[in-house]
Amino acid sequence: MSESSALEAASSFAELNLSPEIVRALDDLGYQTPTPIQKQAIPLVLAGRDLLAQAQTGTGKTAAFALPLLQKMQPFANTSTSPARHPVRALVLAPTRELAIQVYESVVAYGKNIPLRSTVVYGGVGLESQTQQLRAGVEVLVATPGRLLDHAGSRTLSLAQVEYLVLDEADRMLDMGFLPDLKRILNLLPQNRQTLLFSATFDDNITRLAQSFLRDPLKVEVARRNTAAETVEQVVHKAREEDKIDALVRVVTAREISQALVFTRTKLTADRLGRQLQRRGLNVAVIHGDKAQSERLLALESFKQGKIQLLVATDIAARGIDIAELPYVINFELPYSPEDYVHRIGRTGRAGAEGMALSLVAPDEEKLLAAIEKFINRPLPPAPLPTLVPPEIPSRTAPPVPTRTPAAVRPRGRRAEVCALLLPPARIEGEASPE
Ligand code: AMP
Repeated sequence: MSESSALEAASSFAELNLSPEIVRALDDLGYQTPTPIQKQAIPLVLAGRDLLAQAQTGTGKTAAFALPLLQKMQPFANTSTSPARHPVRALVLAPTRELAIQVYESVVAYGKNIPLRSTVVYGGVGLESQTQQLRAGVEVLVATPGRLLDHAGSRTLSLAQVEYLVLDEADRMLDMGFLPDLKRILNLLPQNRQTLLFSATFDDNITRLAQSFLRDPLKVEVARRNTAAETVEQVVHKAREEDKIDALVRVVTAREISQALVFTRTKLTADRLGRQLQRRGLNVAVIHGDKAQSERLLALESFKQGKIQLLVATDIAARGIDIAELPYVINFELPYSPEDYVHRIGRTGRAGAEGMALSLVAPDEEKLLAAIEKFINRPLPPAPLPTLVPPEIPSRTAPPVPTRTPAAVRPRGRRAEVCALLLPPARIEGEASPE
């Protein structure tokens, strides 16, 4: 077996030649086996190669770059208080604040046994506390592009000693119009560096970006080009625009969905949907780009803690959100770009867990659906909405109407309450369940 295939067969992090400090941190996190992208990328990054990595969300791509970079910086780790001893050596650029925070938290967790400093800077909050941290010196800096340039422009930050650059979710950075910012940042960095580009989808723009900024990169792929995460079951329900809220509530109730991330295309729809669902007694929070950073973080935290049942989000706000074993993603509206569909459904079924993506498709979204089917190279035939049975309400004047519904599928508890809130007293039937 060649050395590289031996490494690909590695079944533990120690076999990937990661240091005992890192392996201990991974043990504490409960990571037992490297994921496919980790098996492929870690040896190459340790060997100093530039990478062009296609990894879907939830594949463990953060550790795929963070672990080998921490290991490479480990010889420089020190506890000195002098800022000069803590130059920025690794810069990770991420498209959104949420993703930046998540990457930073992972870096902290993976590097907890190594005295390297890290911080995260993103827009929408004051500069001052970020400036202080940067002045004190950090080896790993995770940043959104705009805020990084703010700091670089005010000279609180030197990027002259950056040895490693990671572009995380590069496709999204380009979609969000960050190319000019990226070019400006790249001009501030030493030419002699290792660059790792991660992207869930590859198109010509990404390839061009890679050609201009990477040196003889190796390509690493863990899924077929542009395939939707394979662990995610995808279900489409047809619903007219005006019936979508009823359909959504019905799906949530009938499937007894305890938590789902619900996507809309616009901030306006997200806000309206949030209000309407709240009026129907559901526990909902909304996140989008116009919400204050503190509100977004609070909503995300409450969702992660299970205090919120439905988190309504726009694509940009939801980018990079990682909630362990999120079982459902619901597309209240299909996205305009098929790539976004792949990103959205990648929010569920993460790290091998099973997930389900449900899409409500109105007649004027048929074209978007067709584009998605072409992109993921598989049909998404519509399924009927699940059957919903309201609780029986005992009547004093008439005996209960006999029902053929088995007791086991009758709504109970919270589900029954929601049914009572939502449904007319008549039974909805005649539709087969897709399950
Ligand atoms: P990422 O694709 O980096 O966002 O990672 C997705 C999720 O998988 C995160 O919750 C990670 O903590 C988790 N994860 C990453 N690598 C592993 C691993 N080797 N074993 C178990 N969980 C992992």
